Amino acid sequence: MSGSLYVVATPIGNLEDMTYRAARILGEVDLIAAEDTRHTRKLLNHFQITTPLISYYREKESQRSETLVARMLAGEQVALVSDAGTPGISDPGSILVSKARAAGLAIIPVPGPSAVSAAVSCAGLETGSYLFIGFAPVKSAQRNQLLQSLADSIYPLVFYESPHRIQRFIKSAEQILGDRKLLWAREISKKFEDIHETTLSALAATIADEKIRGELVLVIHPGSPVVPQGESIEEILHWYLANSELSMKDVCKKVSTDMGVSRSDVYQRALVIWDKVNLHD
Ligand code: SAM
Repeated sequence: MSGSLYVVATPIGNLEDMTYRAARILGEVDLIAAEDTRHTRKLLNHFQITTPLISYYREKESQRSETLVARMLAGEQVALVSDAGTPGISDPGSILVSKARAAGLAIIPVPGPSAVSAAVSCAGLETGSYLFIGFAPVKSAQRNQLLQSLADSIYPLVFYESPHRIQRFIKSAEQILGDRKLLWAREISKKFEDIHETTLSALAATIADEKIRGELVLVIHPGSPVVPQGESIEEILHWYLANSELSMKDVCKKVSTDMGVSRSDVYQRALVIWDKVNLHD
């Protein structure tokens, strides 16, 4: 019998965020592959887990995953953890997961903390959709290019950023995306947790001369799209369908108010447009 790969999420701050299942699995497997074994040893000690550890970090992913797949094929149960949060999310893991899958091994997620889901859960996003980017490139030309490509996104953008680069990132974001609302989520679930809503311009001014510490997630809201003027009701409905995340009902409400036309008139026209799209899906 082959072993399995458990992909285990661990706390991003508060150790009480460890799930019962994560603690049990880490105690039961034969081996834990960890991004930093010294870091994970502290977590294991806290939960009195004595399972052996093997290092699995970015530079060694390819080579180490061969060893781990061979051990699983020989019957060992392996758990993969990163320093904090969910492996594979801006963390090592993808190579091991792909190789394990190619070898026909079972891959079992053990869900739990992740900085992206924690930040998004407090962002109050209207539709619940978002675009997770993770870390933007360090080099300014590449970072600006990425931001440019995201400027028209109708989805909120979620970034991870290091405290050393945050000023430069916010400056680029304000220049390229324009002033926008964002959620600043620093040190989630830690002693100095600081989560609040602000704008890119206000944030740029506040942090300009400040030394920022700790870990950061930014949820940047979409810019306000410019609704076309002087078009027919149909054209405006088409525009909303392509450029917004609003439901048909909300679009009708907005268009009838903005254009001063009856809601039922707009609704009849919208039905035809939305029906056509659904038929083609
Ligand atoms: N795999 C992890 C996850 O599931 O969230 C992310 C790992 S990535 C290397 C580390 C980045 O995640 C940090 O630089 C920061 O942007 C974000 N992060 C991790 N813990 C955080 C926390 N407690 N508060 C805010 N951001 C955090």
